Amino acid sequence: MGRGIDRFRIPPGARLRPQAWDGDDTSGFRGGKSAAVRELEKLRSRLESLQELLYAEHRHRLLVVLQAMDSAGKDGTIRRVFQGVNPQGVRVASFKVPSVEELAHDFLWRVHREVPATGEITIFNRSHYEDVLVARVHHLVPKPVWERRYREINDFERSLSEEGTSILKFYLHIDKDEQKRRLEERLEDPTKHWKFSLSDPRERRYWGAYMRAYAEALGRTSTDWAPWYFVPSNRKWFRDLVVCRVIVHALEAMHSKYPPLPRALRSLRIT
Ligand code: ATP
Ligand code: MG
Repeated sequence: MGRGIDRFRIPPGARLRPQAWDGDDTSGFRGGKSAAVRELEKLRSRLESLQELLYAEHRHRLLVVLQAMDSAGKDGTIRRVFQGVNPQGVRVASFKVPSVEELAHDFLWRVHREVPATGEITIFNRSHYEDVLVARVHHLVPKPVWERRYREINDFERSLSEEGTSILKFYLHIDKDEQKRRLEERLEDPTKHWKFSLSDPRERRYWGAYMRAYAEALGRTSTDWAPWYFVPSNRKWFRDLVVCRVIVHALEAMHSKYPPLPRALRSLRIT
């Protein structure tokens, strides 16, 4: 795979050690921030054209899953990577605490309804992975239930993939110290107060348990048909660059083409 993105792809069945995760890691990228910003600019305009092709060709679908601890930048990544794309063909689905109706169904019910239709890109801001992360950390369901979900998720994603949906999953990793800085900034900066939620410092206390849950989820559900990418995200420019590179690469691999004029229209003259 091109452009140095392979090293962030998690191999199926990997046994991951969260102690070794480093949100600052930008190794493998030689330029600094300014080179990254320039490259991102180019990639974004490529993304714009590729998304138009995807929409026009009406053959493929792309699902992008974003998971992260609070303040790691799911919202910022969506804003910066997808700025400029045609909103007609791109949609964001955010998954919050399940409603009573959602809880009355299987955990994939609300997720399946939001997957992309043909020609579309859908971005999941949180996802069905919450059901093996927060659900596991807070014992929202018994262990045998979340244990079997890894398999259920793999089966679900496999069937989406067989039906023509490409799936890319990103875990945006920030270090615990970096989260502290970001949460403090949200408390201090009046333009960021709105982003602060009391649940953020509360969830932070479960950092270790979350990291263990992430490690297991990423290792057990990174598959050939729906790979996970581990994205060091302390530096926003690096995070945006990695995510954009992977998405552009996947869209290029679809080799989409503008549909030709149907035969019946070839001799048509506009009068
Ligand atoms: P932001 O804080 O940027 O607005 P967010 O995704 O953190 O975005 P919140 O409303 O703060 O949005 O949080 C959503 C909460 O819903 C998270 O704490 C998440 O763990 C929780 N959640 C999502 N899916 C589930 C689920 N299936 N079961 C239980 N909790 C869930
Ligand atoms: Mg939040």
